[in-house]
Amino acid sequence: MELLVDSYGRRIKSMRISITDKCNFRCTYCMPAEGLPWLKKAEILSYEEIERIATVAVSIGIEQIRLTGGEPLVRRDIPDLVRQLRKIEGLRSLSLTTNGILLKQLAGALSEAGLTRINVSLDSLMREKFAKLTRRDQLTRVLEGLKELEQYPSIHPIKVNAVAIRDYSEEEVLEFVRLARRKAYVIRWIEFMPLDADQIWRKEDILSGAELKALIEDEYGPLVPITTGDPSETARRYTFSDGIGEVGFINPVSEPFCATCDRIRLTADGQLRTCLFATEETDLRAILRSNASDDDLAKVIRQAVWNKELKHYIGDTRFKRANRSMSMIGG
Ligand code: SAM
Repeated sequence: MELLVDSYGRRIKSMRISITDKCNFRCTYCMPAEGLPWLKKAEILSYEEIERIATVAVSIGIEQIRLTGGEPLVRRDIPDLVRQLRKIEGLRSLSLTTNGILLKQLAGALSEAGLTRINVSLDSLMREKFAKLTRRDQLTRVLEGLKELEQYPSIHPIKVNAVAIRDYSEEEVLEFVRLARRKAYVIRWIEFMPLDADQIWRKEDILSGAELKALIEDEYGPLVPITTGDPSETARRYTFSDGIGEVGFINPVSEPFCATCDRIRLTADGQLRTCLFATEETDLRAILRSNASDDDLAKVIRQAVWNKELKHYIGDTRFKRANRSMSMIGG
């Protein structure tokens, strides 16, 4: 079989599927306080439609799928979707990104449905800061959700992702590190990107992975790199000199990894995006709903992938903001 490749020779293996644009948080760096105009039900792909696209995508080379949103756990019966996707032959990894608020109720059902990987987004361990950033006073519930996850060892590692923002994240770096060393959580910081609906992003707000690493090394000494040999890995991963705990830095702004990008994204309304910062999309929903065959669908996906953007151009005069915010794309 011909592999799924783009015109720059990158092999595309990973697909992020947003299953809803709705979210129960209103993170200031992502969504306005009043939310966004939500998609109508008929605009959103049904689970059957998602399964069909996923099956076709896997048949032509996608190996990893991550479910995201909005907040994926607000969509009803998500364990059913997980159960169905798990059955796709050739799919090597199925994961989920969540804000964690509904994990206490859903971790068991997700594990039972066959989910084995989860990322929980958590930007602050301090109640007031958390409430201000997410505009929801729900830190306790997220921490309870994480605790609940620990009951299901088939879901591992538990990854905790924090957006790094200057003058916000520095004071808690070491607290997050202690968490990574105390619990079986892998902590990763991701640089703030210009994908916020309110357009508050400023270059000065970026707190780079290198700066965070230096703060940690001041306290713990040199971090020890963990290498996996997977060139498409987005995180620079490290452990400590005693081997206890793992932290990582995802540096899309200060050290872009577009050259090894292996990702495409499907929005909740069925638009295929070949770059987080894409300004154009391919309407897979229209194709799905037009009685097209799986072969037709595969052809359209291949063509879109072939035209994948070279890079995101953040920090360059050629940079253009994406036509949707992170919650509408699926982070
Ligand atoms: N609701 C889920 C969650 O919280 O993980 C999934 C969707 S959320 C859009 C996915 C990730 O994108 C979260 O970790 C969030 O912090 C991150 N994110 C949102 N806006 C961002 C931005 N402007 N820069 C960097 N990361 C961002």
